[in-house]
Amino acid sequence: MDRGSSEAVTFERVHELETLVRRLRAVLSVTYELTATIELESLLRKIVYTAAELIDSEAASLLLFDECSNELRFRIATGNAAPRLSNMSVPLEGSIAGQVFVSGTPVIAPNVKEVPTYYREVEEQTGVVVHSLLAVPLRIQERSIGVLEVINKRDGRPSFGTDDVEILTALACQAAIAIENARLLTALQEAYDRVSKLDRLKSDFIAIASHELRTPLSLVLGHCVLLQEDLDPKAAERMRIVVHAAMKMKSVVETMLNLRYLETGELELNPAWFDVRQAVSEACEAYREIAEDDGLTIEVSLPEEEVPVWADRGCLQVVLDNLLSNAVKFNRPGGRIWVSVTAGESQVEIRVADTGIGIPTEYLEQIFERFFQVEQHMQRKRGGMGLGLSIVRELVTRHNGRVWAESVPGEGSCFHVALPRYSSVQEAERALSQSRFATLLEGGQEEAPDALE
Ligand code: ADP
Repeated sequence: MDRGSSEAVTFERVHELETLVRRLRAVLSVTYELTATIELESLLRKIVYTAAELIDSEAASLLLFDECSNELRFRIATGNAAPRLSNMSVPLEGSIAGQVFVSGTPVIAPNVKEVPTYYREVEEQTGVVVHSLLAVPLRIQERSIGVLEVINKRDGRPSFGTDDVEILTALACQAAIAIENARLLTALQEAYDRVSKLDRLKSDFIAIASHELRTPLSLVLGHCVLLQEDLDPKAAERMRIVVHAAMKMKSVVETMLNLRYLETGELELNPAWFDVRQAVSEACEAYREIAEDDGLTIEVSLPEEEVPVWADRGCLQVVLDNLLSNAVKFNRPGGRIWVSVTAGESQVEIRVADTGIGIPTEYLEQIFERFFQVEQHMQRKRGGMGLGLSIVRELVTRHNGRVWAESVPGEGSCFHVALPRYSSVQEAERALSQSRFATLLEGGQEEAPDALE
């Protein structure tokens, strides 16, 4: 080889290397685009057009494995045949794509007609004449998810070279990850949409059922209480049982309504100053008879001085009702319930303690989640929907307060409700509207409370 020809070879090699670097740069820059594209169809389109461009080929196509038919299905292609190719499939056995998919290694076919596994069906159906073909696997770790193909080199070369294999493989590696991510995201979105739809159905059902039940139930209850007064002692005793059962139904309906209001953010607090001692003693009085029916005693310990708080009295009543109802329900025969109020500088603490079955330590947080019950629903001896404490937590939180439980399993439980004390209505309203705003943000609603506008 004379000096002139060796220089020519070197120059050619440098040119080749420069071209390779330029193409690898192009792969790198498209990688950023691919990872940023989360919509599957536009991602696939980007991959095939990039492949055809980078490899300088007449057309490119992408096949994905279809688990149901155990075949490779064309998902997208460039060129005139694209519409006819869409949704055509090729078998894993007896096709170049299948061979690449199964073996996980690329195939260059300079003349496809000479390859025994070439699958002619596609060419026959689309009318596209294929001379040469390069196919690389789309792989995630050790698993193939599809195949990326290019056909007929455009730059006048008879077939594809090793550089083309490297470039297409580099593109396929990035493409496979991006496809998998987009598919996972789509699946996640679909699952989320299904769950949201079910959740909406459930909420609508709760709303309709509770609204429809409330009015007739109030009528039944009202008339039964009136009738009770006119009945002879034996019938009155029976009526008392009916009233007791209707009261239970009413509390179920109210729980459902409260849940609905909290879920939809419809619950508006109507705060006012009131004496916590009065709210607590009224709630305890309302439960005294129910407790005594179960052989339980309720003891109440209140400060001597008035304990004013700025809160929604109706909400506090729901909180106390739920805690007292649990203290009765989960108690043992002959057990006791203590309710106390302690007034501090900045907060008031209400405690509802019982001598009941207790709560295992690992569940002390979970009991405040919706529908969580320590005993499985069907094995339960005591009724309930597992909603009371979640409502308690939401209501207390809306008041900027805190609720928590302590328990010794087998000996009893103590629930603490701490509510903030404010020195003025302005201070209280500012704090409550901030908590409302935080709730709206959590729920993804855009409305802002007046105080913050
Ligand atoms: P429900 O009482 O309707 O089941 P809650 O949300 O009020 O629902 O309570 C959730 C669960 O927490 C109860 O099912 C029970 O397992 C446990 N729990 C609540 N209060 C007590 C209590 N005072 N003693 C023992 N367990 C309790």
